[in-house]
Amino acid sequence: MSRAIVLSIGDELVGGLYPDLNAPRIARGLLEIGVPVDRFLAIADDASAVSEALREAGARADFLVASGGLGPTLDDVTRDGAASAVGEPLELDPTQLRAIEERFARRGLPVPESNRRQALFPRGSAVLANPWGTAPGFRLRIGRSLAFFLPGPPREMEAMFEAAVLPAIREALPPRRDSFVRRRLHAFGVMEAVIGERIADWMSGENPKVGTTVRKGEITVSILARGPDDTQARALADRAAEDIRGRLGEAVFGEDGTPLAQAFGRLLIEKGITLATAESCTGGLLAKSLTDSPGISAVFREGFVVYSNEAKIERLGVPPETIETHGAVSRETALAMAEGVARAARVRLGLSVTGIAGPEGGTPAKPVGLVFLGVCFDGKARAWRRQYPPSDRRLIREIAARESLNLARLVLLGRPREE
Ligand code: ATP
Repeated sequence: MSRAIVLSIGDELVGGLYPDLNAPRIARGLLEIGVPVDRFLAIADDASAVSEALREAGARADFLVASGGLGPTLDDVTRDGAASAVGEPLELDPTQLRAIEERFARRGLPVPESNRRQALFPRGSAVLANPWGTAPGFRLRIGRSLAFFLPGPPREMEAMFEAAVLPAIREALPPRRDSFVRRRLHAFGVMEAVIGERIADWMSGENPKVGTTVRKGEITVSILARGPDDTQARALADRAAEDIRGRLGEAVFGEDGTPLAQAFGRLLIEKGITLATAESCTGGLLAKSLTDSPGISAVFREGFVVYSNEAKIERLGVPPETIETHGAVSRETALAMAEGVARAARVRLGLSVTGIAGPEGGTPAKPVGLVFLGVCFDGKARAWRRQYPPSDRRLIREIAARESLNLARLVLLGRPREE
């Protein structure tokens, strides 16, 4: 099977000043044409480090795709590293030099000596034109690898990757090769470890490869199936997805990148259920995430941000004594808010969120991260208490908004969580 290694080159990259956007983009593109990536390497702007990494990678992989370090300045040393990896000198490419001179001439400027460096390529390489920026790329054989060198700026990298790299790799691939199909299932409301236990047998298999990731309370199960052709790879991925869906039940809300709010919105539209929201600590995040989905106007009527006690009382009709007796952050207030918003907006489904997002405002009885989530459906209100980790205000708000959508989703499916 053909395999690839992706190299990202730059001092600022390994210094942690910006995240690597290129390697993931390259890896996704290669996998789509049936070439899995088995390593990402990040390397400083140091010619000997680049050369060493290229020699090692060139001994292992069929394809290398490198980005960065092709600029005009002396700290851009990728071309020097590549030349040294193959033991060849850098040579001037007259066509590229002319192109650089013309570009500067058009702006009425002399060519700085440093820009001439961008017309230097290791002997034996083929130049890859860069109509999107100044630094051309090149292609070179290193060891057993066909290696591609692209400029670092992600837009230029991506344009050249699609125009010059993918077609060349496709052409170089053996005619019979494996196909890969990826499916993703998204779940909410179950711990990653629990999911891991339920699908342990899939997760320890080789084909399909199954793994989980977690982000803001949402677990993604990723299934990567390999087969001799698309149909067989897809059949394998589909079989695994169906079995895993069955095991995770209603925790799975969507597939292949569908956001929770969108999956929930579709359910509402399908069932023709109207909705309104009443938010305290999430400050409108719930309404925002719902209105991110096109088409939601068919069911979403209005969203209240009722931050103060007065607003909860005046807008939603929460009884003042409920707040006095139990506090604004309480099960009772969440219930009254959900009922109140359904009544005020004349909708079938009312959602409420009230909590302490911090960093201040917590007490021993009601610590930061304590949130109550209410759902009132056709006049019947329920509320759930959640204690999120107190560390991060933004995360508390984001998880609370998602959890609210998920609880309402389960209520609509007739499978409400225990309160
Ligand atoms: P240029 O002609 O623009 O100098 P270059 O190949 O020399 O091209 P670099 O100098 O390595 O590119 O990077 C230029 C900028 O592109 C960086 O400052 C950074 O903002 C962005 N960049 C480079 N590599 C990456 C990467 N892997 N992920 C995200 N951004 C990147």
